[in-house]
Amino acid sequence: MKFTNLTGVLDIGANCYLLEAAGKRLMLDTGAHPKREGTDSLPRLELVADGSLDAIVMSHAHQDHIGSLPAAMRRHPDAPVLMTEATKHIGETMLHNSVNVMLAEKNERDVPGLPLFTHREIDSGLRRWKPIPLNIRFDLAGDRVSPAEQCPFSMEFFDAGHILGSVGTLIRAEGKTVFYAGDVQFEDQNISRAARFPEFDKEPCDVMIMESTRGDTPKLPGFTREAEMERLAADIRRVFERGGCVLVPLFALGKTQEFLAMYDALRQRGSLPKCPIYIGGLGAKLTETYDKLAHKSARHLPDLDLMDDVAPFVIGGPNAYEIQVRPRRIFALSSGMMMPKTLSNTVARKFLSRPENAIFFIGYADPESPGGILRNSKTGDIISLGPEHAPEPVLCEIGTYNFSAHATRESIVDYVVRTKPRKLVLVHGDPAAIGALAGLIRPLLPETEIIIPVPGVPITL
Ligand SMILES: [Zn+2]
Repeated sequence: MKFTNLTGVLDIGANCYLLEAAGKRLMLDTGAHPKREGTDSLPRLELVADGSLDAIVMSHAHQDHIGSLPAAMRRHPDAPVLMTEATKHIGETMLHNSVNVMLAEKNERDVPGLPLFTHREIDSGLRRWKPIPLNIRFDLAGDRVSPAEQCPFSMEFFDAGHILGSVGTLIRAEGKTVFYAGDVQFEDQNISRAARFPEFDKEPCDVMIMESTRGDTPKLPGFTREAEMERLAADIRRVFERGGCVLVPLFALGKTQEFLAMYDALRQRGSLPKCPIYIGGLGAKLTETYDKLAHKSARHLPDLDLMDDVAPFVIGGPNAYEIQVRPRRIFALSSGMMMPKTLSNTVARKFLSRPENAIFFIGYADPESPGGILRNSKTGDIISLGPEHAPEPVLCEIGTYNFSAHATRESIVDYVVRTKPRKLVLVHGDPAAIGALAGLIRPLLPETEIIIPVPGVPITL
């Protein structure tokens, strides 16, 4: 059995892994690096011989896990792509959106390789996308197999609690078990339920491939999501009372829907007043998918229809950038990292010079991204949000809140210690996060071999 990390570099970038077992080859995720462009954003697909894959598995539809799928499918024209139904719906929207982004980039600058794929290529590939329910065993063709059947290579999806449709994948081959966690959250969010991962009480876990995003971030003592929601609500009230409005830069997928559900809960209990909320076009489209699949997916509040009950205003079309910034409004706009040319970046420029306004961060932003730079700034710091933004002082309030869709390192350590994998492969984190997580687990599980896979180098498991 062999495992190869096909990411370009060791960070949270373009997730893509190759598992070879029982004479079969399975690709786990085909991401694109969110901070890179064109062919630079692709994982190392060229290390896998064209046409040699038996299947591709998608853990979820975030860009860093699905963003290069059409490029991978082009190289492997016979491989089925296996995912949950929610990932199928969301993934289609995400990939079409990234074609639009790539075409806009190509119009402005000469980036090699753009677009990496086309709308037509996505559409014609959809017939190879197979939706698979949670908690059933299936083979490489995506067909159901019974546990009693002698299947040389089977898989099973478990709810990962990260975003709608996210899964961990248990692979059984060569008499061994390999569990690829994907991105996981072991605690409840407002919509996503805590992960329901296998406990390995009836069969051992031979290999676990685990994400390390928050590996170097200790959980704050006494932290609860509830208390954090009330802290955010109190700060929004304070901004409203002084006549300001609030910008919340967030990812269109996952965080937008969690934020709308959070706002609804806070408003219902009287912690926030009813106020206009604005979301972007992609956020709205994905929110519609959350609503459409509410009763067909593993989630909290299946009766909450976000578009009807919370009724956000949608900013879209050619006038998107002319938006009026008025008091007592919330702008919940992507991108979360405030990349240039996105709504959150453009609207933020109307906020910086206004001390009554506030920009509140509720999720991850790479420290080098415009969002990361702004989040780490202090009042009066001079910053630029991108090449076409003349530097100016930050006069608005900046706040940071923790509503991560990734597991705390403490909950990862608990799960790993409970399930005692023979080998633990740590991925999806920068080197400091991976190193810190390995350092915590090593003394607790001295018999477990901890592997930090060098990109591009196959490991025999
Ligand atoms: Zn993710």
